[in-house]
Amino acid sequence: MKGDPKNLGFSTRAIHAGQEPDPRTGAVAVPIYQTSTYVQHQLGETPQYEYARVQNPTRSALEAQVAQLEGGHAGHAFASGMSAIQALMTVLKSGDHTVVSRNVYGGTFRYFTRLLERMGLSFSWVDTTDLGAVEAAFGPETKMVFLETPSNPVMDITDIAAVAKMAHTRGARVAVDNTFLSPYLQRPLELGADFVVHSTTKFLNGHSDSIGGVLISSTAEDAEWFAFVQKSIGAILSPFDSFLTMRGIKTLAVRQARHEENARRIVDFLVEHPKVQRVLYPGLPDHPGHEIQKRQAHGFGSMITIEMGSFEAAKALLDRVRVMSFAESLGGVESLISHPASMTHASIPPERRAELGLTDGMVRLSVGIEDAADLLADLEQALA
Ligand SMILES: *Cc1c(COP(=O)(O)O)cnc(C)c1O
Repeated sequence: MKGDPKNLGFSTRAIHAGQEPDPRTGAVAVPIYQTSTYVQHQLGETPQYEYARVQNPTRSALEAQVAQLEGGHAGHAFASGMSAIQALMTVLKSGDHTVVSRNVYGGTFRYFTRLLERMGLSFSWVDTTDLGAVEAAFGPETKMVFLETPSNPVMDITDIAAVAKMAHTRGARVAVDNTFLSPYLQRPLELGADFVVHSTTKFLNGHSDSIGGVLISSTAEDAEWFAFVQKSIGAILSPFDSFLTMRGIKTLAVRQARHEENARRIVDFLVEHPKVQRVLYPGLPDHPGHEIQKRQAHGFGSMITIEMGSFEAAKALLDRVRVMSFAESLGGVESLISHPASMTHASIPPERRAELGLTDGMVRLSVGIEDAADLLADLEQALA
């Protein structure tokens, strides 16, 4: 396309933002620039591209695409979601304090408690659905609030705008891990957040064939810092993974719509099933975060957590599914089913899991885009 896609619809931007035709050939798909370095024309000139840790055209195209979709100033792509979170946390210094959603992704918990605490950062693990608890956790050293909403796997919903307002009056900045919804369903920067991180491994790439992360910032100053971090630490996304992720993002809108349509049908089935004790899904009207989710997002997503009552009942379901795959991860075209307590959240001590309401009977579903009838039949036979 010609011109700036900024004012066009989400699906159009997902396909066109950052996707300039290749200047040499006019190739519609941004090529994979599989090179480590670039020839410089003259000594003393500042070239646009000098070394591929610092700049790569394939990665830049993906970064422009995600920045547009999240409504940010710039995006930076990293080797994994965790390395995007690592880059984010470099805005802090030793002595700084972070207020963090108490049930974030297990890897984030591990990184903050096992690595960052050793380096002099401190954390308060807070039920961020409770604004009073968030307020009480602020201290003079608080510089960051790190939210995950919906949270993983208990599906707590945090009011992003309310937390951002509170943080900004206290001199702290707000980051949201938006992996579970993607910018198609939720855009935290529009709600006042300062940073968004994603594991692109999940919905953005969407095909379970790449590990990656992006960090989207809202100011030129932050963007400049994160470019410096990419250059200095070097945990960049490869050209091939940048290509795959960019390709995945082009179908994000249609995938997300189908993911959610399937999820709603599965939720309707599960809430009626006698063997399922509880269904945690923000789309259910009795979910405590339902109204906030309706206000701040454009849908409810396709992650569902169910309570089977015991480890044995959870195991029986997981062992019997045929169409769904028993695996970690989420957000791919294929439906995945997992056991958070022993898989994604195994790095969280059992007593802490109990505090968070994360039980051994919980099963998490990432609903894919297969035919809903096949997914329903699979669950029906596995629960029989
Ligand atoms: C998977 C995940 C991460 C970590 O991403 P990787 O790409 O596996 O490093 C972070 N946050 C959330 C919510 C995730 O689901």
